[in-house]
Amino acid sequence: MIDFTYILAASHSGSTLLTMLLASHPEVASVGETSALLWRGKSDSSTCSCGAPLDACPFWATVREGMRRRGVDCESPDFQTDFRLPACRLTDRVLRAEFQGPMLEAVRDACLAVSPAWRRRGPAILKANAALIEAVTELKRVRVFLDSSKEPHRLKFLMRIPSLHVKVIQLVRDGRGVAASYLKRNELPLRQACDEWRRSIVSEEHVLRRFSSDRVLRLRYEDFCRDSADSARRIFGFLGVNPSHSIRDFHKADHHILGNRMRLSASGEIRLDEKWRSTMTPESIRVFEDMGGAINRRYGYE
Ligand SMILES: [Zn+2]
Repeated sequence: MIDFTYILAASHSGSTLLTMLLASHPEVASVGETSALLWRGKSDSSTCSCGAPLDACPFWATVREGMRRRGVDCESPDFQTDFRLPACRLTDRVLRAEFQGPMLEAVRDACLAVSPAWRRRGPAILKANAALIEAVTELKRVRVFLDSSKEPHRLKFLMRIPSLHVKVIQLVRDGRGVAASYLKRNELPLRQACDEWRRSIVSEEHVLRRFSSDRVLRLRYEDFCRDSADSARRIFGFLGVNPSHSIRDFHKADHHILGNRMRLSASGEIRLDEKWRSTMTPESIRVFEDMGGAINRRYGYE
C-alpha cells in the first residue's frame, strides 16, 4: 500500500508553495499535480521544475520506464492522467462537474456507467495514474506520495485505486484573498470570482464527508505562512514521516514538480500575501460578504 496524501484546495490558495516545501522531505515522493503530466506538446506542463523538458530530465526517464513496466506508455497518443474526455462533450461535462452530495454523485456515476467513451477510456486513465504514483514512490524508495492536484472531483476517481491508502490536507485561504487574486490574475468579474471560490469550498466539504477525521488535516494558508516550521512539523507528523526534518533549504531540494508556472521561480522566501486588505474596496468586501461571508467564518476568517 502507498500512503497517498492529496492536497485539496481552491486555486490561488498557496498549494504550489506548500507542495515544494513538503516535497523537500526525503521520505515524501511527489511530482506536484499528477493531473498535469503531458508528455507531448510545448505546454508549461511539459517542463520539469528542475528546468529540463520532461523528455530530457533523468528523473522522468526513470519514471517513464517504471510506468512502462506497469503496462503504461506515456508517449502513446492516448496517454493521459487527467480525468477528461474533451472529444466526447457530454461525458466531459459529467467528468468535470464539481463534486456534489451523494445524490448528485450517484447521478454522475450512473451517467458514466452508460457512457461508451468512459467505459472505453476510464480504466486506462485510472491505470495511468496508478502507474505514475507507483513508479515515483518506487524510484524514491518511500511509501508516502503527495499529490497537489487540488480538485475535489479528481479525488473521487483516485480513491478507486486499490493500492492507495488515501488521506487529505485541506488547504484553505481567506476567501477575500482568493477572490482578490482571481480578480487580478484572471480578470474575472467580482461576483464570478467570489462564486468560484465558494463553489470550490462547498465541493471540498462534500468530498471530505467521505473521510474519517483522522484522515484529514486542515491547514490555513495564513497560519502556514506565519509559522511554516511549526506547520511543517504538524503536516510531517500527519504524513507519518520524520517530523523534525528542517525545511530551511526546501527550495534547494532536488525537485521534479509539475503544475503551475510559479514552481519554476520558487525562491526560499515564504511571505504572507494579504494584499486584498488594501486592494478590495468596501463595496467588493460587501459583495463577498453576501456570497461567501458565512462560509469564510467557518474557517475562522472574521
Ligand atoms: Zn526534472
